[in-house]
Amino acid sequence: AGSGKFFVGGNWKCNGTKDSISKLVSDLNSATLESDVDVVVAPPFVYLDQVKNSLTDRIEIAAQNCWTGKGGAFTGEISVEQLKDLGCKWVVLGHSERRHIIGETDKFIGTKAAYALSQNLGVIACIGELLEEREAGKTFDVCFQHMKAFADAVPSWDNIVIAYEPVWAIGTGKVATPEQAQEVHVAVRDWLSKNVSAEVASKTRIIYGGSVNGGNCAELAKQEDIDGFLVGGASLKGPEFATIINSVT
Ligand code: PEP
Repeated sequence: AGSGKFFVGGNWKCNGTKDSISKLVSDLNSATLESDVDVVVAPPFVYLDQVKNSLTDRIEIAAQNCWTGKGGAFTGEISVEQLKDLGCKWVVLGHSERRHIIGETDKFIGTKAAYALSQNLGVIACIGELLEEREAGKTFDVCFQHMKAFADAVPSWDNIVIAYEPVWAIGTGKVATPEQAQEVHVAVRDWLSKNVSAEVASKTRIIYGGSVNGGNCAELAKQEDIDGFLVGGASLKGPEFATIINSVT
């Protein structure tokens, strides 16, 4: 980990019931967490209120998506204002499942990021390559393209955490090696330095996501440019998520 405050997010995706979430919240409430870590969980929309009303204030709440602008006649969408009304501090945008399963484009994601930031909702901005893109030597190109789409849309990087999530590592059990992750994090930081500013490059946290678990987090956390994690599957288990949070070095 580098000099910024370690940041660990738990993405619960489309999982859980009122009962299972109540158990997860109570496990998180009783866990001992290192104080020098920002901790955020992203429950499904329908459980945001339940989680906000039962989870310790030590842990902030993120949404897994949001609408591109103010609410209104947009059936099935959830606005940034509504997320703020429920007490959300963050929103995850550009997750690979939304890019590759739902078909969200860079431009659409950038519009959401800009609007969320304009309303003071922090953005966990996800980037990352597919397996075939890595195998074709296009990892940096793809990550830089995702970065550029965010950079072109947002007025400031103050409230953004970048999540590097190689798609081949998400939900597959195939974690990137610490060296593979570190290499991309350095490249992304360098991209920020050249295309935004040296200050933003040094201040912006770049977290890693993709099959992080209680067993592999410590080695990853030792890398200089890994400033935390975005965790899917392992964030559904309170004690294991606590181990990942406490892997800060
Ligand atoms: C994610 O969904 O952001 C993720 C990293 O999932 P998993 O940890 O399950 O690979």
